[in-house]
Amino acid sequence: MGFYVGIDLGTTNSAIAGTTGGGDLRIFRSADGTDVLPSVLYVDKRGHRLYGQRAYQQAMLSPENVAAGFKRLMGTNTPIDLQGAGLSLTAEECSSDILKVLVGQAYTETGTSEVSGTVVTIPAAFNQMQSEATLRAARAAGLESVALLQEPVAAAMASISQSRTPGGQFLVYDLGGGTFDLALVQSLSGSVSILAHEGINMLGGRDFDRILVNNVVRPWLLEHFDLPDDFQANPKYRRIIRVAGLAVEKTKIALSAQERETIFASDDEVRVTDASGQDIHLDIPIDRTTYERLIADKLDETIALCHKILKDSGYRSDDIDRVVFIGGPSKTPAVRERVSRELGVPADLTVDPMTAVALGAAIYAESRDWNGGATSRKTTRSSTALGTALELRLDHPARVSANKARVRIKVSTPGVTGCVILIESQTGWSTERMPLSDGMSIDLRTDDMGVNTFRVTVFDRSGRPLPEASGTFEITRTHSSAAAIPATQTLAVKVLDSTAGDRNLLEVLIAKGTPLPASGSKAFRAARTIRAGDGGHIDLELFQQAPGVSAPELNLPVGVFRIASEDLAENAIIRTGDQIVFHWQMNDSGLLRATVELPSAGQTFDTPKYYVDQAGHRSFEGTDGARMAESALQNAQEELEKAQTVVGAGAVQTIDGLAGRLAEQRRSLTLADDADAKRAIAEEGRHIRQDIARLLDQPENRARLLEHELGEIKGLFNRVARDTVDFRTNERFDQLARTATQELARSTDKALESTEKILGELKRLTSQTLWQDPMFIVAQFRLIAEERHLAIDKELFGQQVRDGLAAIERDDMPTVRRIFFEIVENQVNLGSAVRGAGDLASIMRS
Ligand code: ADP
Ligand code: MG
Repeated sequence: MGFYVGIDLGTTNSAIAGTTGGGDLRIFRSADGTDVLPSVLYVDKRGHRLYGQRAYQQAMLSPENVAAGFKRLMGTNTPIDLQGAGLSLTAEECSSDILKVLVGQAYTETGTSEVSGTVVTIPAAFNQMQSEATLRAARAAGLESVALLQEPVAAAMASISQSRTPGGQFLVYDLGGGTFDLALVQSLSGSVSILAHEGINMLGGRDFDRILVNNVVRPWLLEHFDLPDDFQANPKYRRIIRVAGLAVEKTKIALSAQERETIFASDDEVRVTDASGQDIHLDIPIDRTTYERLIADKLDETIALCHKILKDSGYRSDDIDRVVFIGGPSKTPAVRERVSRELGVPADLTVDPMTAVALGAAIYAESRDWNGGATSRKTTRSSTALGTALELRLDHPARVSANKARVRIKVSTPGVTGCVILIESQTGWSTERMPLSDGMSIDLRTDDMGVNTFRVTVFDRSGRPLPEASGTFEITRTHSSAAAIPATQTLAVKVLDSTAGDRNLLEVLIAKGTPLPASGSKAFRAARTIRAGDGGHIDLELFQQAPGVSAPELNLPVGVFRIASEDLAENAIIRTGDQIVFHWQMNDSGLLRATVELPSAGQTFDTPKYYVDQAGHRSFEGTDGARMAESALQNAQEELEKAQTVVGAGAVQTIDGLAGRLAEQRRSLTLADDADAKRAIAEEGRHIRQDIARLLDQPENRARLLEHELGEIKGLFNRVARDTVDFRTNERFDQLARTATQELARSTDKALESTEKILGELKRLTSQTLWQDPMFIVAQFRLIAEERHLAIDKELFGQQVRDGLAAIERDDMPTVRRIFFEIVENQVNLGSAVRGAGDLASIMRS
């Protein structure tokens, strides 16, 4: 029958649920007897580890021994330092530990460790690298058959399983410890998919705790004790704030169930004295209304986002069946009440916000056919053949989620006139005796969760049972119908496009919405020549493509398949134009596997060796992290200034909005104290640039954008190239520029296309000239030599800079230029403008 497990691996809390496919779907509780396990790890000096609630208590008091919130760092190499334990772990290792503890809870409660399939949930916004990291953590925890599922989809499945109407649209409102995630989920003919999702990064239960500390605890302390105004900044008093953090959280949770509570901590717990030597304690009564008033602004923000997601997706409140509430803070009565009332959408009150995601994941796990790692939808129809003398075939569903099912009877032998059929279930329910006929259908009741067994009996004309035409069949009733999960993101490959000068574009490999699992092959051609052992390489670079943004540098890089010259068979050669075939498979967790085939060389390369987690897998720690985030915002700033000069008056509001978002990120950066906050800021910088690119891409802006770029390239050429190049190159440049201006003036679609082409040619000419000029090369090199913070391999970067400087000393410009582009390759992709030919894709469309 199988044992299926669903795990909600949360930032703050995790939960595990399981089912054996019958009606026994349930939560496996932690050793403390709670439904959820805090996702916290405590390691003491001797290396002894504690998890969950006990580790969480320590988190506030001795943070230097505790890892918490590590889910936000999944898919990056940022180390989590447990200084108190002299240990440094990755987010993946911490997650793996939590998964082991959770699975242990399931083993303890069921006495079995034979899991047929485990589904681990991930946020809707997780990218390929974060998903891969989650899967690796599960493998490291000893789980074998694992699939991933998006949290809002799991929540929706839990909700559907409780409901009579499986179809429709839901809003999944997930207010967690640190973030607010909102998804519009649709369930349609057996397929559950996310239509849209949004989020607010720094809004969750922890912020509510902070609000309570700042607005209630702090004034109370200042009033009752002899403390300086800025006592929070003083290390001597730091412990008060930590203890207060724990105390307010307890109070806040209590206020979800009762009207009044006290924020309390005894002087024994606080263990700090004020300036007059008095022991500090906390004893602050607070009522629910006061608390709810304090968080009202934050709630408004979430409600505004709900309105926005509906509007952006073209839905009205009437189209939404219900709001499914997920996450601890949504247990606050005001949250459910206000959100539901102000949206005019009923709340789903059947699912528990703390456990719905795990339960939904278990339901999904049970609905899959597990064979190894790959899963597919279980067959949903079945056919049972009975009898030899009288041939009967029964067509019926194999699995249903409702309490009824229909069976169709096919009789392929003549002479059934006068025969009668009866179907009984093992629960005691039965049909009437009905005259048997070919093509008749009979409604059955599937009252039991799990397997329902039915007995068919056929009686002949004289009422005697015909044993050879009788028998049994089964219909399994599941919690929710097996649902297909479509691809959640568009994956695309970077290709060289030479229709208008040389530039990089993205070619879609798997479009968002493709039903999974899926597979396919796509042929490209080599855009350069490499020979065995010549040091060259050809890359298939994959990006997660944002809708409508075709420039690779504005999208998130997720991995590279590299064919390096040393991997080629002896004497093999790949020539420009040779075919390169990419065979890919995406399983239903959204994870990609691929092989690369070179028909001309007769070679095929597998994934494991060639999948490189590169730029995205970076750390945003310390000052380097701050400088990376700063660079990302700087890039956005430059794009915004360009957009300001290009777009017309019609887009002033859009520009102002973007400027506001950028300013907000700048403010956040001054406050950002951890790697995750800086990563989020850099990511938002990229989103702002994507929106600018979409704006500039609109047809009404096309001519103005070309005019702007033409002006820029002319200016650049005059400044740095005109005086150093020969007469003929100057002539050629001016000739082209004149034609471009004339074409632009005609402003027909065709003329604009030709302007674009000439512009490409002008850029190529300028760049070619510049990269011949020693002064330019040296200046560029000196600039990039300052960008240590962007280097992926810092040691390599050091070596590259030393080699480059030595080459400058001996005036060896070709080498300086080569090293410059090697440094570019060793850089994080923050989407800086193309730096020259070194960045061009090594493959093209076939
Ligand atoms: P995550 O999705 O980040 O793992 P959870 O959904 O478990 O987080 O939410 C954790 C947050 O919920 C914490 O800030 C906690 O204080 C808060 N919380 C937990 N239970 C309640 C409750 N009954 N009422 C209000 N807040 C709660
Ligand atoms: Mg959660």
